[in-house]
Amino acid sequence: MKELLKKLIEAKSTPDVGEADCANVLAEFFTSAGIKADVEIWDTNRANITARLKSTGQKPALIFLSHLDVVPASKRGWSSDAFEATEKDGKIFGRGSCDMKGGITAAAVAMTEIAKSDAELKGDLIFAATAGEETDSIGVKKLLESFDSALCGAIVTEPTDFDLITAHRGLLWLEIITKGKTAHGSMPHLGINAIESMRAFLNELENYNISADTNELLGKASMSVNKIKGGSATNVVPDSCRAQIDIRTLPQQNHSDIIEDIKNIFSRLEKQVPDFQAELKVIRDVSAMQTDSKCEFINSLKSILERDEIKAAPFTTDGPFLAELNIPVVIFGPGKGQLCHKPDEYIDIEDLQKGINLYKQIILHFLT
Ligand SMILES: [Zn+2]
Repeated sequence: MKELLKKLIEAKSTPDVGEADCANVLAEFFTSAGIKADVEIWDTNRANITARLKSTGQKPALIFLSHLDVVPASKRGWSSDAFEATEKDGKIFGRGSCDMKGGITAAAVAMTEIAKSDAELKGDLIFAATAGEETDSIGVKKLLESFDSALCGAIVTEPTDFDLITAHRGLLWLEIITKGKTAHGSMPHLGINAIESMRAFLNELENYNISADTNELLGKASMSVNKIKGGSATNVVPDSCRAQIDIRTLPQQNHSDIIEDIKNIFSRLEKQVPDFQAELKVIRDVSAMQTDSKCEFINSLKSILERDEIKAAPFTTDGPFLAELNIPVVIFGPGKGQLCHKPDEYIDIEDLQKGINLYKQIILHFLT
């Protein structure tokens, strides 16, 4: 267990490196346990891995979904090398230990232990670890392109500190680009100032009400302009300005409606502001997720795990892509969410073991 996690941390899988090495570590682990694993590699270094324990097929399958990629780690703040797994005080430190190579380890080890046991599976157990959850969710999209197994539900192994999470807001990241025409700064009337156009747009955006009705579990939708860039010199009228907007949505909100609303602002401004010209790019688009908290899958999990409460996550996951299969999706795994993406990220070894045990209980409940 510890060895697998350490190897996964050391198989650096930041966006610049890709997930292939990490997928190969898992493939070796499964193969040595007698389980066939499929690694799919594309663009030289991007990768997904899947493994499956076959059953009698009397019940639908259960899938554990993890992500292979981790966010980068700067040298600052780390007590030791972020990509050299360090064991200390009952913890394993390293980038990804918590988010979410700990969850990967727990699911993979649970699978091999079930395979070794005499449990007779009536439904297939599927392990999938995919690429790019932190950036473009490309891996889960690829996984689902050819996915045709009937599922009873899905467990996303993100670090929830063993809270049962059934919902999170969606995210829609947009880039707005206003266009202009350069001119000498002393003769602005000869140019079109793209920053002025951006100002006109942002003024209009301030009046746009993103919030839908408050969701009991998720609260409100939100919108924040978090990046802006335009111009090249004090004495040059800028011909381009870019702003990035982080929108967090509720399940009842349709992302294409929001995009349409913003394009309508452009149309309005084209009529009101001379030479206004803008375009919109979608940087990232992940739907909100909310699994019916009263469905059988959730009720069973609550009783197996002895949890009364279900919660919402402040972060997004690849869960909504699986929810498109019309199956209940739950986010549940070892590790403390507040350690994610931070220096000196770690997981308690005790939590890893607990994760394995709980995943095994879940597997046995739904698949035997
Ligand atoms: Zn994660």
